[in-house]
Amino acid sequence: MPDEIRVAVAGAAGRMGREVVRAVAEAPDTILVAAVDRVGIGEDAGDLANIGPLGVTVSDDLEASLKKSSAQVLVDFTIPTSALSNAGVAIQSGVSPVVGTTGLTSDDTKRLAGWARDAGVGAVVAPNFAIGAVLMIRFAAEAARYMPDAEIIELHHENKLDSPSGTALMTAQRIAAARTQPPRGAPANTIEKVPGGRGADVNLVRVHSVRLPGYVAHQEVIFGALGQTLTIRHDSTDRRSFMPGVLLAVRKVRKLNGLVVGLEELL
Ligand code: NAD
Repeated sequence: MPDEIRVAVAGAAGRMGREVVRAVAEAPDTILVAAVDRVGIGEDAGDLANIGPLGVTVSDDLEASLKKSSAQVLVDFTIPTSALSNAGVAIQSGVSPVVGTTGLTSDDTKRLAGWARDAGVGAVVAPNFAIGAVLMIRFAAEAARYMPDAEIIELHHENKLDSPSGTALMTAQRIAAARTQPPRGAPANTIEKVPGGRGADVNLVRVHSVRLPGYVAHQEVIFGALGQTLTIRHDSTDRRSFMPGVLLAVRKVRKLNGLVVGLEELL
């Protein structure tokens, strides 16, 4: 099909990358044209994704792969230390990056925004591509207007590298921005018997990170007020939950002017 969007995947051998390979191959308007990873080199990306061969072998050379394949969009689900440079290589090649990798710093995001703007290339960074998670963040911001005291418990599989999760950081930022009054905060004489006992302080939202086998990606936002609590919870029980959001970003990213942060901006 001439109008198919030509997609490259970085991290194609990883848990999320394999799901993206499958989603891109199965969608009627996208085609996988390149697959990059540090492992699985020379293997067919479709075989790695358990959908049979797609004729796209995994390479470890992103720049050459983007050029050779005439990719239009790069979907990146790698590791925090690779995602920024991968996005930079894509932008230099005129390819729009869709970055799902979490753990980028706010400085990283600013640099990426500058590169995208200067090159006139659309780009997306989203810490969570699941629609339910986007709604959880939106509802949490709404609750924070009336209930400023909030804590977050985020729960992920044991191999997740970064903590707190990108979703938790974004939720805490949105809560802080939405508050109309300050939270009560901890009493001055609070004692943390073990450092970190009260979790990480992100914009006066305590964030607790659980890492255990059995989880995929889950988060609870708990608001407390006199005599009541309100809990907003989202569970991704399957990595397929992220794919409609990834495909939405793939379809929209080339029409964007510079960098957009968060799936919500694309809905
Ligand atoms: P994973 O470890 O299973 O996969 C990462 C892959 O990236 C590995 O195969 C690794 O070899 C590869 N890689 C590392 N450096 C690379 C490089 N420079 N170029 C190409 N490939 C490289 O991890 P995962 O569970 O798939 O998660 C990947 C990222 O996605 C994490 O940051 C995670 O937090 C994030 N994530 C985001 C969302 C979202 O909705 N935005 C959802 C789930 C996970």
